Amino acid sequence: MTTPLIELKNIRKSYGGGDSPQVDVLRGIDLSIHAGEFVAIVGASGSGKSTLMNILGCLDRPTVGDYLFAGENVAHLDSDALAWLRREAFGFVFQGYHLIPSGSAQENVEMPAIYAGISAAERHARAKALLTRLGLADRTSNRPHQLSGGQQQRVSIARALMNGGHIILADEPTGALDSHSGAEVMVLLDELASQGHVVILITHDREVAAHANRIIEISDGLIISDSALSHTHVPVTANSDALQAVDLRQRLADGAEHNGAWKAELLDAVQAAWRVMWINRFRTALTLLGIIIGVASVVVMLAVGEGSKRQVMAQMAAFGSNIIYLSGFSPNPRTPPGIVTLNDVAALATLPQVKRIMPVNGTYAGVRFGNVDYMAYVGGNDTNFPDIFNWPVAEGSYFTEADERAGATVAVIGHRVREKLFKGQLDPIGQYILIENVPFQVIGVLAEKGSSSGMQDSDDRVAIPYTAASVRLFGTYNPEYVVIAAADARKVQEAEQAISQLMQKLHGGKRDFHLTNDAAMIQAEARTQNTLSLMLGSIAAISLLVGGIGVMNIMLMTVRERTREIGIRMATGARQRDILRQFLTEAVMLSVVGGLFGIALAMLVGGVLVLAEVAVQFSLVAVLGAFGCALVTGVVFGFMPARKAARLDPVKALTSE
Ligand code: ADP
Ligand code: MG
Repeated sequence: MTTPLIELKNIRKSYGGGDSPQVDVLRGIDLSIHAGEFVAIVGASGSGKSTLMNILGCLDRPTVGDYLFAGENVAHLDSDALAWLRREAFGFVFQGYHLIPSGSAQENVEMPAIYAGISAAERHARAKALLTRLGLADRTSNRPHQLSGGQQQRVSIARALMNGGHIILADEPTGALDSHSGAEVMVLLDELASQGHVVILITHDREVAAHANRIIEISDGLIISDSALSHTHVPVTANSDALQAVDLRQRLADGAEHNGAWKAELLDAVQAAWRVMWINRFRTALTLLGIIIGVASVVVMLAVGEGSKRQVMAQMAAFGSNIIYLSGFSPNPRTPPGIVTLNDVAALATLPQVKRIMPVNGTYAGVRFGNVDYMAYVGGNDTNFPDIFNWPVAEGSYFTEADERAGATVAVIGHRVREKLFKGQLDPIGQYILIENVPFQVIGVLAEKGSSSGMQDSDDRVAIPYTAASVRLFGTYNPEYVVIAAADARKVQEAEQAISQLMQKLHGGKRDFHLTNDAAMIQAEARTQNTLSLMLGSIAAISLLVGGIGVMNIMLMTVRERTREIGIRMATGARQRDILRQFLTEAVMLSVVGGLFGIALAMLVGGVLVLAEVAVQFSLVAVLGAFGCALVTGVVFGFMPARKAARLDPVKALTSE
């Protein structure tokens, strides 16, 4: 006798044990099946037929006993090798068809070939040919719910044949079908048996079993009769190809060859992922929202942070970086602030570190021309103004030292003040304006600065002679603050020190004054901006994290919902790592799509902000960083559900609801 294709020796299967009561489902099965046989296993419901079939199909392992496949003990195979065996040797046909609901008939039939690493073209052709052979040529793109039960069962038979299907394991294949469709399915199985496929048919229906040439009856987990034992004649029309194809010794060589299949598998995983996302698009969109908002907020927040930082820096630079401001200051809250006098100013002017020095006495005051009133910063300052602030006049001229000495009531107005007061009038020069009801003659208009050093617009300004301001507006000659241009822009710090020393000497050792400079302000501002950016960035990162948790949630749900699909994929030969890859791909796809939409949204929001004149500065690093974070989020949060899916037990997965 030749080696049997399948040999079971004293197979037992028990469930439970431990704290739950032990159920012995199979209680010692001895069975040999040879190539070319058409076997029916009959028995009452609950007798252990399906359990036996799962063991035969290497979906499940026996508790006790040996299973020899072509002479080799299956117990020695790891889960990958078992997956290989299922893929190469078996084709399953189930009572409930077990098609993947999201895939078309064609895709369902092709699935086993993907795991076998067969090229796309060959796969398409073969699936098409099988479907045509089974009378479904015009139903290839239908999804299972668009097919009748009989058609679905034919699709599942085509799937069983996709990789050869040398051994067809059919568990109650007609159980859910009407008699006509059932008869059709039986005709197909008869045909396959006559073509040399081993067909193992499980049924509780004796009429159906009669199609087989060997009938094994099982009851309560034991074989109670086997027609092969009573009739000595076993019809062996073995298809030698069938045996060769499943030669286990081929496995290693085969495994190496199939390593190139990862591309096809990845493509399939991406397609499957896309399908599932599309079918559940509302749910997908909601999940994506988390990632989209996360990515968009990271990008926008960083862009706004960077934009405002650059804007502030640019504005500060506009005033020159060698400027030092000196003002009175109260060293403790109970004493009045120190007063900087014009004598101090004169003394400081002699310092070699000081290039120019200018007292300023200013305030916000009402300015009026005709019947137009406007509030502007009115500063009394001397003729150093254009030079210190690098701020020339655009029209007319600046006031002179003679005006300064004489306390002339003349004014040089800022760009914005000109716009507000002289709307229709082309030439303000020579006109009289009222500053706090004192008439001043406009003699010049400052060039537009277009920036601010602090809160206010720098063009919102009127410059008048210091003397005139002191006499007419403030009633004091003491400056509000003093502007000093350091001789060397690189030695502002040193200049500050020299000024500080001299001031302390002049003020009897008291530090009742305060010095700041633009460089320090720029630095302080930059620090604040950086902190702000960091804060905004971390808020955004948190939202990305929340998005990631959303992905994990949806993936866990998906795995639960698609447990059956995972079982089907495993039955048709997917290895654990194929399942892992599939679900990881789905999670990453979610994140990639979310990331892309997020970037698009960020651009949109950025555009709106630009229109609203908010300074935004997009950086490629931020965009790539956010996208990368989304990707990593997908991998990290997708891994746990994917691994959970990959570790499912095939039988449990298949029988899940
Ligand atoms: P059949 O296919 O002949 O109707 P099954 O092989 O499906 O029978 O089941 C045989 C017996 O094993 C049944 O009594 C069933 O309750 C029990 N059984 C099957 N699977 C499990 C399981 N996972 N845990 C406990 N009992 C099980
Ligand atoms: Mg059953």
